[in-house]
Amino acid sequence: MNYDYSEEQTMILENFKNFCKKELEPRAQMLDKASKDEVNVLIKENIKKLASIGYLGMLHDEKYGGSSIDLISHVIASEQVAKACASTFLSAGASCGLFGMPLKLFGSDEQKKKYLVPIIKGDIIGAFGLTEPEAGSDAVSMKTTAVKKGNKWVLNGAKTFITNAPICDVALIFAYNDRDAGPGGGVTCFIVDSKTPGFVVGKPFDKMGFRGSPTAEIFLEDCEVPESAVLGEVGKGFIQAMKTLEYGRIGMATVCLGIASACLDYANAYSKERKVFGRFLNRFQEIGFKLADMLIMTDTSRLLIFQAAWAKEINKPDAQILASCAKLFASEHAVKCANMAVQVFGGYGYISEFPVERLYRDAKLGDIGEGTSEIQRVLIARDVLSKFA
Ligand SMILES: Cc1cc2nc3c(=O)[nH]c(=O)nc-3n(C[C@H](O)[C@H](O)[C@H](O)COP(=O)(O)OP(=O)(O)OC[C@H]3O[C@@H](n4cnc5c(N)ncnc54)[C@H](O)[C@@H]3O)c2cc1C
Repeated sequence: MNYDYSEEQTMILENFKNFCKKELEPRAQMLDKASKDEVNVLIKENIKKLASIGYLGMLHDEKYGGSSIDLISHVIASEQVAKACASTFLSAGASCGLFGMPLKLFGSDEQKKKYLVPIIKGDIIGAFGLTEPEAGSDAVSMKTTAVKKGNKWVLNGAKTFITNAPICDVALIFAYNDRDAGPGGGVTCFIVDSKTPGFVVGKPFDKMGFRGSPTAEIFLEDCEVPESAVLGEVGKGFIQAMKTLEYGRIGMATVCLGIASACLDYANAYSKERKVFGRFLNRFQEIGFKLADMLIMTDTSRLLIFQAAWAKEINKPDAQILASCAKLFASEHAVKCANMAVQVFGGYGYISEFPVERLYRDAKLGDIGEGTSEIQRVLIARDVLSKFA
């Protein structure tokens, strides 16, 4: 086993570290504090910036403007994006990942040309509409329906907590076309242009964290889409959503890793500047122990994410569970790291001028998005128990 980065991975790390430090990090506080209208402008600019270094196409085929890089190298780049600006990572990820990955896996050549090419260039923004007001963890109880009328599908329902809804040009909408199809069946995924009549976006949510990534509800009111809007096969939407979330969980784990890693850097630097009782903070064992714990949590998260990415890359049967393990560990430990970083900063950590305050608020989403910690434990426990059956 070799833990060294390849030459190419080292280059990716350095390129993204420099780029994100220069282009994204200085805007992260501004994005967090911006009004909702300003956020919509700034986040699109940031996504465009990421397109300019090829980030949005890293996992996509060359044919559509991507670079088909391996998942571990993508995680290496993503950590730097998330570390510099977690909101930018979330919105970019929702567009090229949550929207783009199902297109890559299940889309037709025509759909990929129409949507993936501009997504990779950052010219249009995508969103992923699965969650509903009464169906989050329990996605199968979604209520949105798709009814075939002639050569059109008519969508009705509501989606909530949708990242990028206020700025999206196109969204994936999951809807029941056949409620009696049995477990895992009867759901179809539709690619819906946001300008389609009956596609209505609600007011952006006022969130605790990730304030630079806009989130809103999407209402589908007799929203008519053509047959060509069906992604892959009719009735396969639920399986497509679950396959996408395997990548999504690695993504959410990585944003948490970026947050934890930023917390460690800020706390470390501050401990070398701040003097109390005539000594720098880092001379106190209590502070050193916090930094040591943060380093272990960050490194362990990274290793679990690499393991999950590697398993997914080679299609190992336990890839899904490894993604859940990585997501669960990285998210819960990002919250712990952020808490420690605020503690190292003392009173200043509680003031919004200092980035650890933002990171503390951002960290909490990791426990909730892409399947809560409880749901990850349910999945992992089911897997562990099955091995001793
Ligand atoms: C900022 C943000 C961005 C998001 N972006 C998107 C997006 O782009 N697209 C999208 O489709 N969704 C998105 N989501 C939705 C997110 O995935 C859901 O919020 C999440 O899956 C939880 O669903 P819920 O909020 O309905 O909570 P619920 O399912 O109502 O859960 C409430 C609580 O009950 C617990 N619980 C539920 N079931 C069980 C069980 N079986 N055993 C034990 N405990 C259980 C949960 O863990 C949680 O603690 C986003 C959410 C947020 C906050």
